[in-house]
Amino acid sequence: MNYKAWVAKAAKQPMVLETVDLGPLGAEDVEVAVEHCGLCHSDLSALNNDWGISQYPAILGHEVTGRVTAVGPNAKGLKVGQRVGVGWNSGSCMHCHQCMSGSHHLCPQVQPTMFGHRGGFATHIRSHWAWAIPLPEKLNFAEAGPLLCGGITVFAPLAMYAKPTDRVGIIGIGGLGHMAVKFAAAYGCDVTAFTSSENKFDEAKGFGANHVASSKESAAIKKLGGSFDLLISTVNVKLDWDAMIGTLAPNGRLHVVGAVLEPIPVAAFSLILQQRSVSGSPTGSPVAIETMLDFASRHNVAPQTEHFAMSNINGAFARLESGKARYRIVLDADF
Ligand SMILES: [Zn+2]
Ligand SMILES: [Zn+2]
Repeated sequence: MNYKAWVAKAAKQPMVLETVDLGPLGAEDVEVAVEHCGLCHSDLSALNNDWGISQYPAILGHEVTGRVTAVGPNAKGLKVGQRVGVGWNSGSCMHCHQCMSGSHHLCPQVQPTMFGHRGGFATHIRSHWAWAIPLPEKLNFAEAGPLLCGGITVFAPLAMYAKPTDRVGIIGIGGLGHMAVKFAAAYGCDVTAFTSSENKFDEAKGFGANHVASSKESAAIKKLGGSFDLLISTVNVKLDWDAMIGTLAPNGRLHVVGAVLEPIPVAAFSLILQQRSVSGSPTGSPVAIETMLDFASRHNVAPQTEHFAMSNINGAFARLESGKARYRIVLDADF
C-alpha cells in the first residue's frame, strides 16, 4: 500500500509531499489513518533543529486523531475503525520499572512520535497499541489533537499537584497556557493568568481565569507574593524567576512545562524557608492521557484552534512561526 507524507528534507526547508513505504506492521502495533493532526510549537522546533536532535528526512506531527485501519496480531484492546489519538509518544518498552509502574512516558526507551519514528503529517501513522488512546464518544474529534500533547502536558501537573481549592497561576497564555487555564478553571481552582500581552487579558478571562497579571512587570508580580499553591510555567522565555517563585505560598510549587532554554536561577533560601519546590514534567502516561480526555469531554475543555488543510502545511507552519495563531493550529487531512 502507498502512503503519503509531508517530509522535512532538511532544517528550515519547506516540507514536500512524498510517497513513503511504512514496511510491515509490527506485531504489537496498530496503524491509524490520520484525519486531523495538530501543529505544535515543537514541530517548528524540530523542523528548525532548535534542540539539535533532529534528523532528516523526518515526518513530523504528533497530535493525531484518526481511525484504526490495521491491528498487529499481538496488539490489544483496539479494533479496526475505532477512533484513537496518538500524541507525543507512540511506544515504550512495556517491561521496565517505569512502564510496569504506569509511568510509560518516563521509560528510558520511550519512542517519541516524530524523532526516529514517522509522525502524523501523513496519511497513516503507526503506534504501539498502548499509545493509541481511544477517544471518548463525546469528544470533538477535529479539536482533540492538541489535547494529546499540550493538553496532557498541562493537565498532568494539575492532576499530580493541585487541589480544587488551590490558587493556581498559569504563566504564559499561548498554545499550552490557554488550555491550562481552561483545565484549572474546570478543576475548580482560583486561576490567575500571567501574560506578557495585555491584549490577552480579556481572552484569558474568557478561558476561565479569575485574575490576570503581567508576566513582565516585576513590581506587579511582587504584589502577589505568597499567593499561589501551584504555578505552571508554559513560557519559553526568561522571566523574573525570583519574583515568580516569591509569589508561591508556603509549600507552593513552580512547575515548568515550557522548554525555556536558559537555566532558571533558584535561590536556596526562597525554597527552604517557605518549603517551596521547583519541578518539571513531560507529557504523561497513556492512562493519564485517557483520564485527561475523559475530563476534557465531561467539562467541554477544548483548545481554541485555527484549521488549515494538510495540503497547505507549509502555510500553516508560516502562520505558527508568525506567532499570530490563536492558539493551536490543526491540519485537516486532504493531502
Ligand atoms: Zn506538541
Ligand atoms: Zn519501559
